[in-house]
Amino acid sequence: MIVDYHMHLRAPDESLDHTVEGVERFVELAAERGIQEVGFTEHVYYFVETRSLWTVPYHLERCVRSIVPYVDAVVEGKRRGLPVKLGLEVDYVPGREDETAELLAPYPWDYLIGSAHFVGQAGIDAEPSLVAEVGVEAAWHTYYAVLGQAAASGLFETLAHPDLVKMYGPEIEWDWGAVANSLRDVCLEVSSAGLHKPHGKLYPSSDLLREARHRRVGITLASDAHIPQNVGRDLDQAIEHARAAGYDTVTVFDQRQVAQVPLG
Ligand SMILES: [Zn+2]
Ligand SMILES: [Zn+2]
Repeated sequence: MIVDYHMHLRAPDESLDHTVEGVERFVELAAERGIQEVGFTEHVYYFVETRSLWTVPYHLERCVRSIVPYVDAVVEGKRRGLPVKLGLEVDYVPGREDETAELLAPYPWDYLIGSAHFVGQAGIDAEPSLVAEVGVEAAWHTYYAVLGQAAASGLFETLAHPDLVKMYGPEIEWDWGAVANSLRDVCLEVSSAGLHKPHGKLYPSSDLLREARHRRVGITLASDAHIPQNVGRDLDQAIEHARAAGYDTVTVFDQRQVAQVPLG
């Protein structure tokens, strides 16, 4: 089975399009590309209902829309029989776990993705970056500590782009077994989005993925499309990457229940 479990519900010009017509546009293109299930995971920080969580200007500036049309659009897609899942890409805020859970509790999620795009005010994949601020090694220590907390928080089914910190600076030697241990409570996303970043690499590295596989950590598949034209983009490479690490199943979710299905 091929699923794409990470995308942002946008129009072809990348503006937010939280409508059932927007959902249909993604599903149509996904079907043409042999993708059987489509999970929408808009960024949490667009939604005013979550405003109390944010301190970073990047989040606060965007936090102006209601979450209701987004949820309704995907739920209506389901009602029409489309193979869609309702998810959300949630920036993890350490220490605000209870509030995060409470704010998101009213909606019928199939799954939640945990992400770390900022640590404090420093960007992981945005400038000014944590790497520029403290150096590669300290940034990686901090990033993987936060990701470990996110995994243990119980808030999320899976983690987005789980080695995003490689965005800036060189990749260095690391204890991937220890990282995989700290992420055992959730799935890891195998994402093709990094292929289109300057580093041109899949997330996560094959080293981390192999260590995760040894520990029976599940995986999800992700294009991280921000426009419908990119749904499913390069998932064949993500699947190949997962197979090379020993995976033969992919994780799917329904109303936060987990199942494994054959990969590809
Ligand atoms: Zn992300
Ligand atoms: Zn995303």
